[in-house]
Amino acid sequence: MRRYTKIISTLGPASASRDAIAALIEAGTDVVRLNFSHGLHDQHRRSVRIVREEAAKQGRQVTILQDLQGPRIRIGEVENGAVTLKNGRGVVLSANRGIKSTAKHITISYDALHDDVTLGGTVLIDDGQLELVIERIEGRRIHARVVAGGVLRSRKGVNLPRVRTTGPALTTKDLQDLAVGIELGVNLVALSFVRTEMDVVHLRKQLRKAGHRASIIAKIEKPEAVDCIDQILAVSDGIMVARGDLGIEMSISRVPTVQKEIIHKCLVAGKPVITATQMLDSMVGSRVPTRAEASDVANAVLDGTDCVMLSGETAIGRHPAEVVRAMSEIIRVTERHWHMMPSAKRGLPDALSKTGDITESVSFAACDLAAHVGAVAIACLTASGTTACAIARHRPRIPLYAFTDNLGVVGQLGVLWGTKCFAIPFQNDTDAGVQVVHRELTKRGLVREGDIVVITAGMPLPRKAQTNMVHVSRVD
Ligand code: PEP
Repeated sequence: MRRYTKIISTLGPASASRDAIAALIEAGTDVVRLNFSHGLHDQHRRSVRIVREEAAKQGRQVTILQDLQGPRIRIGEVENGAVTLKNGRGVVLSANRGIKSTAKHITISYDALHDDVTLGGTVLIDDGQLELVIERIEGRRIHARVVAGGVLRSRKGVNLPRVRTTGPALTTKDLQDLAVGIELGVNLVALSFVRTEMDVVHLRKQLRKAGHRASIIAKIEKPEAVDCIDQILAVSDGIMVARGDLGIEMSISRVPTVQKEIIHKCLVAGKPVITATQMLDSMVGSRVPTRAEASDVANAVLDGTDCVMLSGETAIGRHPAEVVRAMSEIIRVTERHWHMMPSAKRGLPDALSKTGDITESVSFAACDLAAHVGAVAIACLTASGTTACAIARHRPRIPLYAFTDNLGVVGQLGVLWGTKCFAIPFQNDTDAGVQVVHRELTKRGLVREGDIVVITAGMPLPRKAQTNMVHVSRVD
């Protein structure tokens, strides 16, 4: 049975071997995420090569997503790898990277820390496991008290809730990593810790400068990004609800509704959205998910997410391929409950039909028409992928196939809900275009003689005009 919501698997030590990558793809991974917070460049190069080879062997299209670390703040190296912070003890924080951290002095990878934090502010370390409160700021030294102690290990992440950090959106490391992503021809680049739309604009400029057209996914993991989500969405190609850091930077109780609000905004905007982090977290060690995790995946699907993402589950977990299979099964069963899907429920078509935009209107009409005539496929000829997004946001039950002459677009649409994308040379006239679509769908066993197909295109075809035509035909 067809699955519409896509699955993203993060590669890591548990999924580094050729066999493990092949198994992830076979289990249903649609998108592979390379987490540049970890791993060496050569490891990522090798992973991309293997993913492409194994996907080709299996006749599958697998999209590559590069995830940039962004201005993530980290602890430096810790003396002997770990020290214990005791409750109530005083500790100094500074950006002095020349020394190792101890229980009395912790070094942090952020030079402007003393400028950005305020008295009484909280410093969270290691996903909020350790908590310090700031008592005094003396020049570049911050005096804090341990509120929640524990073991402090090297390079753990630091979160500063309610602090608007002023560092650049792309660090020196990000720029070096981006160069590798460009060299590898990644399809999408995710940017961590986006604060405003300007962070995304900055990344776009870097990509343009290098002549690379990867899509940009803005990771929403800071409250200030939630506050300006409309502006960020306007300049991004997609959004990731990065629930891990979001649940540290703001009250964890707000995460579920923020997720729903962001997914709905993306649906209305026709831009793909990824729901990420701890979806099947217990499967890092276990062979079966918890009931709460199964509900979490199902709820994200019913919210209308385009993709659900696996992180530690596939990167360091014991059963990477089993996790993908479990996720796939939950999605399939949930998607049978079509009447619960968002566009049917929340009046999305009404909201969209008011825009008067030609591509939007033709796309909406194509979905309606396909349902009325009993079509087995909706096909769109799309140079940029825009029409595929415009159709997919109506969440048509009839399978959507996007045809493009741009290989980059094929990869980018890998994150789009329910869409299979194929590269074809564009034809010079509509009849030839229709024939090619019929042939390509028939060749892949997706339609049979006598089936009805609804096709959208921009006339005249050779000019790659805005989508302005919808065509109904029977395969012969
Ligand atoms: C997150 O915080 O939820 C997330 C996806 O980001 P990362 O895994 O890069 O920390």
